[in-house]
Amino acid sequence: MEYYSGHINHLIEQLSRLPGIGAKSAGRLAFHIMNMPMEQVEQLASSITKARSNVCYCKECFTLTDDEVCPICRNPKRNHKEIMVVENSRDLAAYEKTGKYEGVYHVLHGAISPMLGIGPNDIKLKELMHRLQGDVDEVIIATNSSLEGETTAMYISKLIKPTGIKVSRIASGVPVGGDLEYIDEVTLLRALEGRTEL
Ligand code: ZN
Repeated sequence: MEYYSGHINHLIEQLSRLPGIGAKSAGRLAFHIMNMPMEQVEQLASSITKARSNVCYCKECFTLTDDEVCPICRNPKRNHKEIMVVENSRDLAAYEKTGKYEGVYHVLHGAISPMLGIGPNDIKLKELMHRLQGDVDEVIIATNSSLEGETTAMYISKLIKPTGIKVSRIASGVPVGGDLEYIDEVTLLRALEGRTEL
């Protein structure tokens, strides 16, 4: 496939490794970049490197943050006894946008999927159990309603039950297989309010 310069080919190859970017889109992006002012290209490249090297996990909730402890976990006005478990930082952002949830979060960074070979040890589950040794009233499981999300919810509830801490699952106002980040705020709030104890 040496139609273009080797550099462009290399760029296309790198871009097509990103999720949702096929060979065609990668080509389009690569040629777009070729036409961008050098300054913008440098900004793009440096923002990728900066984000990747400076963003870390919050040491309490494991969301992606610029600080050791994220602003939500640092906020004394949040209810630190209520923990909402989500699959990723984008889901956390979806609930934060509603502005109505006052507890804190725990970000798993994935979901259990026997098919993909992702087990309980591959997500931040041990870290969640460790947090529960503190003063916690309720764990709200807000994993996606996909097969993986439901499997994870069931697994977590079984782990937590013996501790006596209340475990609930957000209501299924969320469409089956739906990613939380694409769901509107009203539906998210209804799912939260209609949560049921497991
Ligand atoms: Zn945090």
